[in-house]
Amino acid sequence: DTTHGRILYLEDVSVSFDGFRAINKLSLDIAPGELRCIIGPNGAGKTTMMDIITGKTRPDEGTVFFGSTIDLLRYTEPEIAQMGIGRKFQKPTVFEQLTVFENLELALKTDKRVTPSVLFRLDSAQADRLAEVLGTIHLAGSENRLAGTLSHGQKQWLEIGMLLMQDPKLLLLDEPVAGMTDEETARTAELFLSLKGRHSLMVVEHDMSFIRTISDIVTVLCEGAVLAQGSLAQVQADERVIEVYLGR
Ligand code: ADP
Repeated sequence: DTTHGRILYLEDVSVSFDGFRAINKLSLDIAPGELRCIIGPNGAGKTTMMDIITGKTRPDEGTVFFGSTIDLLRYTEPEIAQMGIGRKFQKPTVFEQLTVFENLELALKTDKRVTPSVLFRLDSAQADRLAEVLGTIHLAGSENRLAGTLSHGQKQWLEIGMLLMQDPKLLLLDEPVAGMTDEETARTAELFLSLKGRHSLMVVEHDMSFIRTISDIVTVLCEGAVLAQGSLAQVQADERVIEVYLGR
């Protein structure tokens, strides 16, 4: 079983748009509980890779497995979300007119295991989960605030909290600290480190000091494939990586 010990496994994945190869024989795997940072210049294929993992874009060829048994290419985007792959886009999309508590409560609504009759009545396990998530996202005590009154950073944390309500196995996050203050960035690093282990994370980021704080392994994408992989120090010292960043 070649996929043993991997939560996510891509092999020789390719996709073209109008003849342009955005992803070109990409192979990558993520271990359970790992926090992987993805970097790379604009147009490297980072967004397209996430689109393939979440079922939004279908590759022309290649293998995409979730765990050792689930062939993700056989499932639709909603089915993939349902099996425990959560995705957060760059801009926060919380419900501004609702409270923090209501936003987290609503996040359970998309869980098809919750039948309509029990919607909005949390059972004790769900209430415990909500309280735990509030602490994790640094919003304990703010549950009755309207989401619209939160800072940009707090909105980002709330949206991560909404994903956490479903207890996802894998979280894909696109530039989570973009637009945050230094203090919010530091607290986001703390938050991510607390998620590691229980969840696997794939984080696309440009903020190198944030990456240095949180990451185990950094993968550098370029022209739709892995250019380099290793610790941040290793990839930053890699001549091909330097060339790609300075050459643009
Ligand atoms: P990144 O997120 O690393 O900046 P993207 O995955 O957004 O890179 O894009 C990779 C390449 O694929 C870019 O050249 C982009 O223009 C192209 N691309 C992405 N999606 C589409 C699409 N739906 N149609 C045409 N070209 C696309």
